[in-house]
Amino acid sequence: MRESFSIAGLVRPELEKLMPYEAKLYPEAIKLDANENPYPFPESLSSKIGELAAGDVLSRYPDGAALELRRDIAEYVGTEPEQVMVGNGSDELILNILLTFGTGGRVLITNPTFSMYKIHSQIAGARPIPVPRRGDFSIDVPALVCYARQPEAKVVFLCTPNNPTGNSTTLEEIEGVLQQVSCLVVVDQAYLEFGGEDALPLLKRYPNLIILRTFSKAFALAGLRVGYMLANTDVLRQIEKVRQPFNLNAFSQAAARTVLANRDVFKEQIQTVLEQREVVQRGLKSIKGVDSYPSATNYILFRTNHDSKVIFQGLLERGVLIRSLGGPELPGFLRVSIGTPEQNTKFLQALDQVMQQVGRD
Ligand SMILES: *Cc1c(COP(=O)(O)O)cnc(C)c1O
Repeated sequence: MRESFSIAGLVRPELEKLMPYEAKLYPEAIKLDANENPYPFPESLSSKIGELAAGDVLSRYPDGAALELRRDIAEYVGTEPEQVMVGNGSDELILNILLTFGTGGRVLITNPTFSMYKIHSQIAGARPIPVPRRGDFSIDVPALVCYARQPEAKVVFLCTPNNPTGNSTTLEEIEGVLQQVSCLVVVDQAYLEFGGEDALPLLKRYPNLIILRTFSKAFALAGLRVGYMLANTDVLRQIEKVRQPFNLNAFSQAAARTVLANRDVFKEQIQTVLEQREVVQRGLKSIKGVDSYPSATNYILFRTNHDSKVIFQGLLERGVLIRSLGGPELPGFLRVSIGTPEQNTKFLQALDQVMQQVGRD
């Protein structure tokens, strides 16, 4: 007779409540849900990158240390290659930080913020502890410090500018945390190209600082998964132990170098996105029943008095995909990425129609 088998009895208990991450595709809709660069990838660069997919790039293992890319990133941000680690998206780096330092400990998360800090904490067997932001979404430094000084605390995540709220944290606030804690402080700057203050100058003075950045947003490479981390060598040496030896494929490494070498192409796009952000902000303010929030990023947070799912669905029916937030922390809130001028006009028109339909109370 066969032994009885129960998959639920084998899975790690901390994964029991975790739901697989689902990103539904709506290929027909205008995509303003994931804060990507909305412009068609520059053709001059696509052909250069296309030519990279040949020979050794395909048949040989990549440079596991990604030396050339790390050198280029170091030059771009103004640090040393030894202080750079690259990842298969910054998502992978978040997981690697938590696998190195978090397992069995506590991770402090300034909610509402990027969802992957909590998810990766659970995957790594760390306990995520929410430290709520204030009403204006600024971080509560004294509360954060209080939690972070407890011995179980291993990692603090601070996203600035913050996803999904769009506001940024000042260097003084970040320094206020760094000075008073002895756990690691991860400052996620995925949107730095759009606004906020660069935390890099703090790296020299604070050995417990880790900075995360990415090619997925301003540099239009979300599909190739290239993120990077800036930290002191003692910290990186520990994280090296959990990093997969060939975590960033050769094609993505080469493509990211090409993007960096041609980054002027993106400057203009970033500038247009910033101008369009003000256009969308004005548009949102002119729609009755909609409250929008200031943004230092390429997206805007807004709310209505209706269930965010209803607004989301109404927009989707009109061909516009944005992000519905909701939940106890952000009831009635949604987030829209800044698109091209045409996309933004369509979004604002669609939202105005949806608000007319649901009633502007
Ligand atoms: C989009 C985003 C990232 C993800 O970056 P990848 O490099 O694509 O994994 C990281 N952090 C924040 C806050 C983001 O919004």
